[in-house]
Amino acid sequence: MTTSTAASRRIPLVDLPAQHRDLAPEISAAIDRVFQSSHFILGEEVAAFETEFAAFCEVDEVVGCGNGTDALELALYAVGVRPGDEVITVAHTFAATAEAIVRCGAVPRFIDVRPDTLLMDVGCIEDAITSRTAAIVPVHLYGSCVDMPALMQIAERRGLTVVEDAAQAHGARWGGRRAGSFGTAACFSFYPGKNLGACGDAGAVATNDRRVADGIRGARDHGRVGKHEHAVVGRNSRMDAVQAAILRVKLGHLERWNEQRRQLASSYSALLSNLQVSPVLASADCDPVYHLYVVRVPDRDRVRANLGSEGITTGIHYPIPLHHQPAFAATSSPQVLPVTERAVEHIVSLPMFPELPVSDVERIATCLSASLTAG
Ligand SMILES: *Cc1c(COP(=O)(O)O)cnc(C)c1O
Repeated sequence: MTTSTAASRRIPLVDLPAQHRDLAPEISAAIDRVFQSSHFILGEEVAAFETEFAAFCEVDEVVGCGNGTDALELALYAVGVRPGDEVITVAHTFAATAEAIVRCGAVPRFIDVRPDTLLMDVGCIEDAITSRTAAIVPVHLYGSCVDMPALMQIAERRGLTVVEDAAQAHGARWGGRRAGSFGTAACFSFYPGKNLGACGDAGAVATNDRRVADGIRGARDHGRVGKHEHAVVGRNSRMDAVQAAILRVKLGHLERWNEQRRQLASSYSALLSNLQVSPVLASADCDPVYHLYVVRVPDRDRVRANLGSEGITTGIHYPIPLHHQPAFAATSSPQVLPVTERAVEHIVSLPMFPELPVSDVERIATCLSASLTAG
């Protein structure tokens, strides 16, 4: 492939410096405010973020914590998941989803995904339910939503609790309702590269259940009920005030950023429509937020190498499904998940971030096209 030097400028998968360049004055002012108060952990700034993010998610309460993995573990424990329980989830997700389940002493029961969306196949839930099943953890991967009305119907009928992993889906909707507002609780991550990212680690639980929120508020702060009284054995997973202040600034831009991501996704899908590329789709009822833009291609590794040699960074989310990870071998029984196993051989994540110029999307599509026909 030949390209001009100008066209060979590197395109990253995610560009945080671009986001922070625009926001630098606002972020500096927010950090100054925290230094002036010198209240660095929890406090007013965290409480204000919790209120604002709860309004954004259209839920009653949000509890900030140290990171998204802790949020999931704290939520699972707060809804009553205990050692020996089984929790139904997918193997096609980030390791944290199953880590949180195992950290509660429970056993992940992995089920397959749908071939169009690569999200939990709700039709596989019933077959995975046993007398030990306590909860279901749907994962809104890539910024798309699992079919939550269908899932909630099964959960209600079978008496199971639902904790959503919404770590990649800040602002997504299903049938007009926000991801993270369907289950008993939902976890969010504010890892820097997420659609809403802190400048360090942070996470939160969203819930409409007062008791769950209060349980997590205690558990994240040493089980405290007063300054010196510890009602339960808790832990330390508090949110930093500096992160909360930065998240408050960024939350004001999130709807616009998500809209920019949707526009870029529609440019990608128009440009790729005639190629041997099949984009991972969102269901018609879902309004996705494209945390990642993922396509399936034949001969994936060669295509990635070609794009890489043209300065285009790509990723794989995720190459090894969790039922094949050594970490979970001891806590999950050997399984075959055909759709998951086939998908991970072909998926590739293309550059996707709100500041990505449309001209770069065009360059990526051209390169992808050349690399597919060169095969
Ligand atoms: C990022 C992520 C998490 C974990 O969040 P951290 O803040 O990194 O702990 C959990 N689940 C999914 C699907 C994620 O993408």
